[in-house]
Amino acid sequence: MVSYTWITMLPTELTPEQLDIKNAAREFAEKEIPKYSKECDEKEEFPWKLWKDACKLGFVGVFIDEEFDGQGLGYLENALIWEEFHRVDPGCGFAALGTTIGSETLILNGSDEQKSQFLPPLPKGKAIMAIMITEPHAGSDVAGIRTTAKKEGNYWVINGTKTFSTNGSIADYAIILCRTEEHGERHKRFSTFLVDLNTDGVSRRKLTGKLGMRASDTAEIHFDDVHVPDENLMGERGRGFYHIMDFFNRSRTWVAAQAVGAAQGALELAISYAKERTAFEQAISHFQAIQFKIADMATKIEAARSLTYRAAAAIDRGKVSPELSAMAKWYAAKIAVEVTDEALQIHGGYGYFSEYKISRFYRDVKALEIYEGTKEIEKWLIGRRMLGVRS
Ligand SMILES: Cc1cc2nc3c(=O)[nH]c(=O)nc-3n(C[C@H](O)[C@H](O)[C@H](O)COP(=O)(O)OP(=O)(O)OC[C@H]3O[C@@H](n4cnc5c(N)ncnc54)[C@H](O)[C@@H]3O)c2cc1C
Repeated sequence: MVSYTWITMLPTELTPEQLDIKNAAREFAEKEIPKYSKECDEKEEFPWKLWKDACKLGFVGVFIDEEFDGQGLGYLENALIWEEFHRVDPGCGFAALGTTIGSETLILNGSDEQKSQFLPPLPKGKAIMAIMITEPHAGSDVAGIRTTAKKEGNYWVINGTKTFSTNGSIADYAIILCRTEEHGERHKRFSTFLVDLNTDGVSRRKLTGKLGMRASDTAEIHFDDVHVPDENLMGERGRGFYHIMDFFNRSRTWVAAQAVGAAQGALELAISYAKERTAFEQAISHFQAIQFKIADMATKIEAARSLTYRAAAAIDRGKVSPELSAMAKWYAAKIAVEVTDEALQIHGGYGYFSEYKISRFYRDVKALEIYEGTKEIEKWLIGRRMLGVRS
């Protein structure tokens, strides 16, 4: 009989090189991640050694050019790695691989000097990055943010508060979206800045008590008269909103890959539990109700995986499609929530306890329907673009 795992590995869409990358990521993830999963989740601790080891083996920031110490690979290869890490554990996968968050837009919009300064430490495991958009009163409404940057001589002075920032309390530097223009079109009042987070006036508070993704650091950051040199303005003044959209159009493919990987991991946990657990004098895998659940889960995952690979491959071909990235992210996150729910259901009462991995997957995946655009925002974007409606 052909095993399900083998079917998903068939090289119908992937080149031999891409399959090698996927297999190498799987091997590393299966061997290394379980050492940290439970403890980092319980203690809400970042897996420092896992991150360093993942960097050493070249799994972090693979889309960064070789010129800047990355691998010069594509978003599809990146998605394959994210998928395999999240299959083993979403929390640690996100923590270790999410350390380059924001570099996607720096690559597109940064100057050569900025790229040379800020990109090389990321894949080498020498620095961690963050991207700070959300504020306490504005998340989905990116253009509703209030943090300001005012020009004073050769400096920009930043004041405001950012929240829910991934890596916020451990990052070395961050891309910060600020309001720089008092007037003008709503989306053209913003600029992005590269900020060293050890600058005077930056204070950070780690946020604890997350439902899931607890190995990943999240923080609130205050900027109190933070002086940033003029050369740290990223890209053109007034284009900050669009720099953030550039980021989302790419980052949504790795969120989709997180979802596919987590759903795959949950399905595999459910399959092995269903084969072991007996009820009414037989393994529960013999009940058609369980077989139908497994069929639904496996089919949804295959559909989400195809969409995810397609969205990532489109970026690599230079055909960035905001709606395709949003479709992949929305659909994959949705089915990850559904699949982990059914996988927990198959575990019965045991699934409700932290001793069983499935309870962690169930908690972790909810975040995928919230960050990088909520599911409502994704659907809004897709619908508007289908209809040709501007806002
Ligand atoms: C674990 C985690 C990590 C994160 N990491 C980062 C990070 O690194 N950097 C960063 O900047 N932010 C980050 N965020 C923040 C995240 O991007 C925001 O939480 C998200 O964009 C939603 O914003 P909000 O929480 O302000 O919700 P709101 O925008 O207030 O939305 C509340 C509800 O209203 C709905 N809603 C809003 N507008 C509409 C609309 N037009 N139509 C229909 N429904 C709508 C939303 O979908 C949601 O259901 C992170 C969040 C989490 C949970």
